[in-house]
Amino acid sequence: MRVLLALGGNAMTNADGRARPEDQIAAAQVAMAAVADLLHEDVEVVITHGNGPQVGNLLVKNELAAAVVPPVPLDWCGAQTQATLGFVLMNALETAMAERGVDRRAAALVTRALVDADDAGFTRPSKPIGRFLPAEEAAVLVEHGETWEDRGEKGWRRVVASPEPREILDAPAVQVLVEAGFVVVANGGGGIPVVRDADGRLRGVEAVIDKDLGAALLARTVAADVLVIGTDVPNAVLRYGTPAAEALGTVTVERLRAYAAEGHFASGSMGPKVDAACRFVEQGGTHAVITDLDHISDAIAGEAGTVVVAQ
Ligand code: ADP
Ligand code: MG
Repeated sequence: MRVLLALGGNAMTNADGRARPEDQIAAAQVAMAAVADLLHEDVEVVITHGNGPQVGNLLVKNELAAAVVPPVPLDWCGAQTQATLGFVLMNALETAMAERGVDRRAAALVTRALVDADDAGFTRPSKPIGRFLPAEEAAVLVEHGETWEDRGEKGWRRVVASPEPREILDAPAVQVLVEAGFVVVANGGGGIPVVRDADGRLRGVEAVIDKDLGAALLARTVAADVLVIGTDVPNAVLRYGTPAAEALGTVTVERLRAYAAEGHFASGSMGPKVDAACRFVEQGGTHAVITDLDHISDAIAGEAGTVVVAQ
């Protein structure tokens, strides 16, 4: 069985959201212990991860150091976090495997995701990133061509395109490594967004791909049987945060799509996870699960979390 596991930001930072290096290493150790527990003989695992807090930190450095060293574009930030988190995850995973006597190796791949240059997101950026700034400081960055929005009391925030991932360009390398027995970390942060110019050349673009939608596409491309979206809640919940809240167990794509249309899942958090799970199953995946790290093992068996099935 081939499993694609998408780890949320919470699996890569402290529970309170802090992202000091030691917090990230500790969080990776917890997550990779859960992965190592899955690695029975017939289970192959590909891991992908979010990078929001890490990219946020790089953007702050960009801003503060702009007078001294040239700021790097958002796609470079994505590439840098794939490499750093890949490194941290490989160390944690190989330790966890050794402790369990699992004889496998880990590999991390810098992974590009192709997007359309004419994706609507580029004309209407909508994804908020980085920290809030006072109006005067945001104005300077707007002059540099960035899009910032007034978010009221908290200040101004940068918004960027969140384009649809069309193709995971490095999926063939993931496939080869998985078949050779590696546990592969790939497509972190949804993939580094690139566009193909008319002359065929690839070029990175300033955008952020949704990590869960990138995970669904990678999962289909490498023919994963199960997509597991690991986050900080055990289930997707109807009427979330109200006294009538109801955790969803096994649910068909059709029902789940209908719940989504009724507005049960917040657009910046649970919404894309539900969409990703539905897409994966609609496109032929066996099942998709949304759950937390404690339930991954049962989730793969379809016995915990919100399990999304075709029928
Ligand atoms: P990650 O960092 O793991 O990608 P997010 O923070 O983006 O996770 O999404 C998980 C969060 O979604 C939960 O912590 C929860 O607060 C929120 N959420 C919003 N709507 C729902 C819902 N209907 N059911 C469950 N969680 C929800
Ligand atoms: Mg989160």
